Amino acid sequence: MSDVVHGERRGAVAVITLDRPPVNALGQALRAALVARMEEAAADPEVKALVLAGRGRCFSGGADIREFGAPPKDPHLRAVIEAAENCPKPVVAAIHGVAVGGGLELALGCHYRVGDASARLGQPEVKLGIPPGAGGTQRLPRVIGIAPALDMILSGEPIPAVEAQALGLLDAVIEGDLTAGAVAFAETVVAEGRPLTRTRDRVIPAEHTEGLFEGARKRIARRTRGMIAPARCIESVENALTLSFDEGMKKEREFFVECVGSEQSKGQRHAFFAERQATKIPDVPADTPVQAIESAAVIGCGTMGGGIAMNFANAGIAVRVLETDPEALDQGLAVIRKNYEGSVARGRITQEDMDTRMFLIGGATDYADIEDADIVIEAVFEEMDLKKQVFARLDTVCKPEAILATNTSTLDVNEIAAATARPEKVIGTHFFSPANVMKLMENVRGRKTSAETIATVMRLSKTIGKVGALVGVCDGFVGNRMLYAYTRQANFLLEEGALPQQVDKAIYDFGFPMGPFAMGDLAGLDVGWRIRQRRAKTRDPDQRYSPIGDRICERGRFGQKTGAGWYRYEAGSRTPVPDPEIEKLILEVAAELGFARRDIGDREILERCLYPLINEGAKILEEGIAIRSSDIDVIWIYGYGFPIYRGGPMFYADQVGVKSIYEAMRRLHQEHGDMLEPAALLEDLAKSGKGFGDL
Ligand code: NAD
Repeated sequence: MSDVVHGERRGAVAVITLDRPPVNALGQALRAALVARMEEAAADPEVKALVLAGRGRCFSGGADIREFGAPPKDPHLRAVIEAAENCPKPVVAAIHGVAVGGGLELALGCHYRVGDASARLGQPEVKLGIPPGAGGTQRLPRVIGIAPALDMILSGEPIPAVEAQALGLLDAVIEGDLTAGAVAFAETVVAEGRPLTRTRDRVIPAEHTEGLFEGARKRIARRTRGMIAPARCIESVENALTLSFDEGMKKEREFFVECVGSEQSKGQRHAFFAERQATKIPDVPADTPVQAIESAAVIGCGTMGGGIAMNFANAGIAVRVLETDPEALDQGLAVIRKNYEGSVARGRITQEDMDTRMFLIGGATDYADIEDADIVIEAVFEEMDLKKQVFARLDTVCKPEAILATNTSTLDVNEIAAATARPEKVIGTHFFSPANVMKLMENVRGRKTSAETIATVMRLSKTIGKVGALVGVCDGFVGNRMLYAYTRQANFLLEEGALPQQVDKAIYDFGFPMGPFAMGDLAGLDVGWRIRQRRAKTRDPDQRYSPIGDRICERGRFGQKTGAGWYRYEAGSRTPVPDPEIEKLILEVAAELGFARRDIGDREILERCLYPLINEGAKILEEGIAIRSSDIDVIWIYGYGFPIYRGGPMFYADQVGVKSIYEAMRRLHQEHGDMLEPAALLEDLAKSGKGFGDL
């Protein structure tokens, strides 16, 4: 009948198998075939029970995302699920690999669910900016209870088979052949005459739900600020408790329709695909050999080195951190320990997890102790001569196949590679602070970096739970180069009339976790100051330069670590408090430079900060430093906190309209000159009516 669903008989059990590689997405053809097969089995007097299974790597990855936004085609997934639920014969879902999104919703419509040890069940819709839309918010609570359902739906994270069984989401975990086990399970159901309770008729397990929804709202408030879908998820699960099944379903559908058409969901769907696309590198084919990384070393156990080492340990990879000074080493290891203790105290990991991870992190003061490492990541001070010395040393000590990586945020990876006799093994692995938390790894390929080194490091990013994006060498690479264009304008706005708290608020309200000045205070202002001092001699005197940041550093205000920077901080607090001293300083500088200060509105702040950032992104694309515009989006979402629901700066540019951004840039360039000249690519796109997504 159809090649997307197969039917076979095993005794009195009809086994119906979804077969639509790679993940059995529940597209229209599959839905139609599935209903037909179920009807056929239901009508066949010899069939006593049905098993639904998936062929290939999983049960089902859920809805076909490509169908989002298109007019729905019958049968709707909800109807398919109802057909399973209303089947007069027992329907058993046999789950291996993932059953997520619509896949789990389908399984929830079955009377029973069994899985093998590989099964992972989840409702990840919220990550795409939508609530579950085919009954997930109504059926899941009826099977496992409100609190666990809320957790699953809000986190979007799948749970493994054992946990699913403990929650009652799986009725059995099958050892050995899954289909055979599921058939045997179905036969038992028939033999014992077990009831065919429809999930919709199940009574939600009694539990204490007072304060649960408010608690959930509070818990996710910061993480999901400005997002619609998580709030709708909570509301919908709450409906499962307070409304009838049909009413709850109706509301769920409304929420789904509202969210799926929203700009937010479009942004999040773009981010989802962008992240996957970033792993594809045109001149590094998917079958490029990858080196095994079983042990690692990190040079320098400061702010970044410690966090980088934790990433390896968290992924179960042994790592040694090297500091030449034993005291610095002890200090670095103590910070790592304190970080883990914090995670244990917050219940994020167990004491046992912490012990295992600390065990995997060894200290070293002698290079001989790291000679066997498969990869070494250097994270010493940002000084070229020092980095070259370290790389020359690593080159003589480390085994010839070891990859030598640098965490530099600005320096030339080619020059660092030239300090070794293995430039093909040298690459940038630019982590973001705090390195154990921030998800981005901006991997920087040098002129001579080999395909194998690139493939290995891109794979490593995934292994240690990061999102890798590959870029080329230029000053600041992709992220910091764009950041520079953005903070530069933020600084100028202070001279022209704004205050740090005002700029920061506009950026925060746009959706960033914090604005440029609060971020500077968090990262430490001295690093940039030192870079500026080094570059002072080569700076073009005709180019506009804001001295405010330097004056702040001259006062010993380096940000949070010194209790003061752009803001001041109460002892032990990370909350920025606007400081009259800084306001006075800004007014003084503005007067010195002859600015007549004026009122600057939020809209101007956003345009002035974000459009130059996008413009710089366009130049980066023109120069081929980034492979594609969506890679830039990935970098800004995961490295700099660009709101994921806006899809990243280049996607946002398309949403605003490249033409209006180009026109604004032209105007800004006329008004302020400086580095605001529109990129040629921006102009081309604007004139041809295209966007970055069309490239
Ligand atoms: P840091 O000052 O906190 O740590 C540097 C560490 O390196 C110190 O502990 C120091 O003792 C050690 N060190 C110095 N010379 C050494 C040597 N020869 N051998 C062994 N150890 C040595 O600096 P950081 O902020 O961790 O920055 C490290 C690198 O990471 C720099 O290249 C920086 O540009 C880059 N980076 C920093 C950030 C950030 O936000 N801090 C972000 C991305 C990248």
